[in-house]
Amino acid sequence: MDATIRDLATVTETAQEYVRRLVRPEVRGLSAYHVPSPAGLMKLDAMENPYPWPGELADAWLNTLRGATVNRYPDPAAKDLRARLRAVMKVPPGAEMLLGNGSDELIQLILLCLGVPGATVIAPEPTFVMYRVLALAAGMNYVKAPLRGDDFALDQPAMLSAIQEHRPAVIFLAYPNNPTGNLFGREEVEAILEATDGLVVVDEAYTPFAQTSFLDALAAYPNLILMRTVSKMGLAGLRLGWIAADPAWIQELDKLRLPYNINVLSQLSAEFALDHVAVLDAQTDTIRADRDNLFKTLSSLEGVTVWPSQANFLLFRVSTRKAGAVFEGLKSEGVLVKNLDGTSELLAGCMRVTVGTPAENRAFISALRAVL
Ligand code: PMP
Repeated sequence: MDATIRDLATVTETAQEYVRRLVRPEVRGLSAYHVPSPAGLMKLDAMENPYPWPGELADAWLNTLRGATVNRYPDPAAKDLRARLRAVMKVPPGAEMLLGNGSDELIQLILLCLGVPGATVIAPEPTFVMYRVLALAAGMNYVKAPLRGDDFALDQPAMLSAIQEHRPAVIFLAYPNNPTGNLFGREEVEAILEATDGLVVVDEAYTPFAQTSFLDALAAYPNLILMRTVSKMGLAGLRLGWIAADPAWIQELDKLRLPYNINVLSQLSAEFALDHVAVLDAQTDTIRADRDNLFKTLSSLEGVTVWPSQANFLLFRVSTRKAGAVFEGLKSEGVLVKNLDGTSELLAGCMRVTVGTPAENRAFISALRAVL
């Protein structure tokens, strides 16, 4: 028998033992991204737009999908969709774009490209969890720059000294930040872009609700990548994110992008949606106004601290700090929010609620009143 072929009968290693020996330790140390089952619950945990499309629009969309050729691969570069996005989102002419299967995929792609051993990623803490997960998955060091505890603003001296100490390859700044909902100061972000010799990814997932952007800063900062998603503006199911940056960045990132990463149904659906973007914009306006109403109501509740938000969610703390019990209580009242207690030192007793329809927001408030 060929000595290199093992006799399976003598193999005693279990799958778990293979895993321990072969899977990278930093991956074994992670937990999978947990999405709780929303079955039977009012879903206010994932920053989705609560509004379906009006009937005529849904019909027109389904008619568009008749043109999909699912026996063929989609356009690998999604040229038509990219052109529509460029026009609708007003991407400056000097910037190039690249699309991802959600902005999650683009975060992964950037880190895969820059992840040499020993390279460091810095991000504020608390922030969007996938920066850390994907940095570790790319074999990079992840350094947390804690935000200020009272208002979750950037602790700029701490951030600047972390930059000096760690010389990061990449800094992620969610603008507005998730899960805190605030916008960092524009001058502070600019100072970070100037202080680092690494790449800065400004992640504008919640820009539709903040109405401010660094798109116009792309020309000034060669180390800036601007990231967006269509998820929060009402198209979470399509899985579509995009980045805009100097063509030099896009050219390299495009080499590691999986071919055909935007499927044909997403391409056609997103093109259709962008042709009717006024509908989504109107929903966004409604959500923004409802966010401000929900903020006022939450602020008036005894035992609750809520922070102002520029996104489509609100961060709040229960004064008992028993967020776990309140979370379960809300669930038994039929409302699913996100429990953040224990995810970060600054978030003790905190939860995050997505702004829903006015009826959902009322139901959430009365459930919270009952539980408190
Ligand atoms: N960035 C931030 C700040 C987010 O909060 C999220 C979603 N929670 C994403 C990116 C990912 O968005 P998607 O993959 O749906 O485009």
